[in-house]
Amino acid sequence: MSGTSAPRPFRVTMLGTGTSSGVPAIGCDCAVCRSTDPRDRRTRPSILLDFGDSGDSGARADLAGGAAGAVAGSVRHVLVDTSTDLRAQALANDVRRVDAILFTHAHADHVFGIDEVRRFNHMQRSPIPIMASPDVLADIREMFAYIFKPPPAHGGGVPKLVPFAIGGPFSLGGLEVVPVPVLHGPLPVLGFRIGAFAYLTDCNEIPEASWALLGGVRVLVLDALRERPHSTHFSVDQALAVVDRMKPERAYFTHIAHDLAHDATCARLPGGVELAYDGQVLEIPG
Ligand SMILES: [Zn+2]
Ligand SMILES: [Zn+2]
Ligand SMILES: [Zn+2]
Repeated sequence: MSGTSAPRPFRVTMLGTGTSSGVPAIGCDCAVCRSTDPRDRRTRPSILLDFGDSGDSGARADLAGGAAGAVAGSVRHVLVDTSTDLRAQALANDVRRVDAILFTHAHADHVFGIDEVRRFNHMQRSPIPIMASPDVLADIREMFAYIFKPPPAHGGGVPKLVPFAIGGPFSLGGLEVVPVPVLHGPLPVLGFRIGAFAYLTDCNEIPEASWALLGGVRVLVLDALRERPHSTHFSVDQALAVVDRMKPERAYFTHIAHDLAHDATCARLPGGVELAYDGQVLEIPG
C-alpha cells in the first residue's frame, strides 16, 4: 500500500540556515559575524519536518524503487540531513523524536552530526531509517565505517540506522516525498518536494527535467549563499531568478554565508522572499 493520502498541512522547522563554516565563522570580525541580531547566527543546514498525526495508526512508509523495504510504525518527525550542529539544534528546538532521516548529499556540513542520532535511538529504543541515493548511502558507509562495522564493544554505542536507497517518490507519514535531482556544481544532489513544499539546498542549477517535479510549489526553501556568484551554490540573484520562474507564494533562502546580514538583505528582497533564520517555523498549507 502507498499510505499516501491527500496533501495536508504540515510544519517545517529551519534547524540550521548557515553555510558549511557556520555564522559567525571562527575568528571572523566582519559585521555579520559580530552582529547581535540572533537571526545572523546560523548553524549548519538542516530542517525538521513535522507531519503531525497522519491519522493512520498503522502507517507505514513504503519506499518505491530498488531494494527498499518498508518502515514499520507511524512516521511524524523527519529530519533532513544530520548537520554538524545537530545536537545544538535539537536542544534549541526541543526535538525529542526522529522517525526517519533523509539525506540530500554527504558533504561534511550535512552529515557530521550523525553520531547524535544515538540519543534518539536510546530514547525511542529502536533503529532509525535513513533514506538517501545509493551513492550517498555508499559515501555514508565509508565515512562512518564505525557505525556499520562497529567494534565488538563500544562504550557509548553507535547510531543504529537502517539504510533505504531512494529510487523515486515514496510515502512517509502518509505524505508523498518526491526526490528532486539538482546540481551542486558537478555533484548531483537531492532536493525534496512534499506537497506544497520544496527544500532545495546546496545547488546552483535545477535541471530542466526537475522543473516538472516542482509545479505547484507554494513554499520554497532555496540555497542562496551570498551576492557574489559561486561555483556550487546559487547567489541571491540566481536564487531570485528561480523564484521568478517557480512563483511560490513564499520563498526562504538558506545555506547563507556571513556576507549577508539578515535585516539589511531582507529589506531589499522582493515581497514574499526572505532569508530564513535558525529556529524559524514554516507552516505548509495542505
Ligand atoms: Zn564574518
Ligand atoms: Zn554541499
Ligand atoms: Zn552544504
